[in-house]
Order: sequence, then structure tokens, then C-alpha cells
Amino acid sequence: MRMVLIAGNWKMNNVSSQAKELVLELKELAGKEFSNGCVVVCPPFTVLRDVYEVIKDSAIKLGGQNMYWEEKGAFTGEISPEMLKDAGCNFVIIGHSERRKYFSETNETVNKRVKSALKHSLIPIICVGETLEEREADKTLDVIKSHVTGALEGLSKEDVQKIVIAYEPVWAIGTGRTASPEQAEEIHKYIRDLVSSLYSESEAENLLILYGGSVKPSNVEELIKQEDIDGALVGGAALKADSFSEIVKKSIR
Ligand code: PEP
Repeated sequence: MRMVLIAGNWKMNNVSSQAKELVLELKELAGKEFSNGCVVVCPPFTVLRDVYEVIKDSAIKLGGQNMYWEEKGAFTGEISPEMLKDAGCNFVIIGHSERRKYFSETNETVNKRVKSALKHSLIPIICVGETLEEREADKTLDVIKSHVTGALEGLSKEDVQKIVIAYEPVWAIGTGRTASPEQAEEIHKYIRDLVSSLYSESEAENLLILYGGSVKPSNVEELIKQEDIDGALVGGAALKADSFSEIVKKSIR
């Protein structure tokens, strides 16, 4: 039985005072240990430490929204895996569609980041997903295949046991448009079968595959009920403690 993971991606939102207020409220509402799941928040780099100080005595875990693959050096503006660990992170989002779209992230750079995250014991939440144009051109499965195989290139069976994949159809991110549970399940199953063919059934069975794209308290239950959906990566609804904790409560016991 796979556990359920609910992760909140705050994107470029919340200065220190707002971040502390949000996470303090969230800790009250959803900071306890769940028997079958885990809650992660991914704030901007500048407030990681502030958030960590609030959640460190709770069950909520911390994640970064991105990282560079090199360990240190002349890479102005970048954040290393060690810096994320030092700030209290256990997770890091890699290859979010906004990074692919606005910051030229490619399958190759995603792969470098994934390998570096694993080397530093950070759990990468690897985002994959098609645009509306790609879906309408019937290229969804090709895109998912290239995102997954690209991200996992060179990873061992042991590595694959330490990753999370998030299926995030780009057309559903921040648009209010959610993939139907059936549409999402079809792709989640495709990803699991693909991982099974690349590795083995056991790696595929244990892999956590999250859904992301306008997840809200009103649609999370139907999504989570699907056999291959193991949680959610939440954007907009993670910015309010009440909506994010509702999502958590409807998904995890
Ligand atoms: C996301 O940013 O990963 C996301 C899924 O955003 P939203 O929930 O706002 O669609």
C-alpha cells in the first residue's frame, strides 16, 4: 500500500511575515503525524529557514522549488542541494512546467538536477506534463514518455525508489481546469507501466505519482480515489491554510 503525499508549491509568493503566518496556521490544522501519508510545503528560497523554524516540531516536511546541480562555485543566483539541506529541506521540486517554459529547463537539465538531488539525499518531485497544444495534437503520451525517460536517464533501481513523479498537465495548472479523474488516471497508469518497463514491477508499484493542476478541496477526493494517483502537488490552493488543510484532510488519515 503506497502512502499519500500532499505537497504545496507556493511558487513566487509570500514574504517572511506571510510565510510564517500561513505555516503556523497550517501546523495547527495539519501538522500532526498521519498514519498513511505526508505533507510537504515548498516555499520560496528566501523563507525556507523561517518556515522550517515553525514546522520543525511538527510532521510537515520542507521542500525547495528548484535547485542547481553543481555543489558550489561561480553560479550567480543559483541554490545548491547542500543549501537546501542546510535550510531544512527533505524534498525538491524539479522540472516544474513553469521552469521548463520560462527558464529553459530541458529533459537534460532535469536529469542533472534529479541525479544531484539524489546524491544529496533530497527526494526529487519530478514534474512531467503536456501542454494543451500537445494534448490536442494527440502527443500526450509521447511527451510524458520523453519527460519520464529523460528525467530518469541513468538512474539505478535504488534511485528510482527515492523519487516522486508529479503528473501536471500544463493546461490544468493555475487555470481552474482540472483533468478529470479518468483523464489523470490514464496518464498515471501509463507512467507506472513505463517505469515498470524501464525498471521492474516492484519499482513501479512503490513509486508515488502525484497529480497537479487546479487541485482544490472540492475535487481532491475523486482524484485520490483513482488507483494510480498517490497524492497531489497543489499550487493556488496551497496559499491558504484552510484550503490546503482541507485537501490534506480529505486525502490522508
Ligand atoms: C502547480 O504549481 O504545481 C500547480 C499544480 O498549480 P495549481 O494548483 O494552482 O494549478
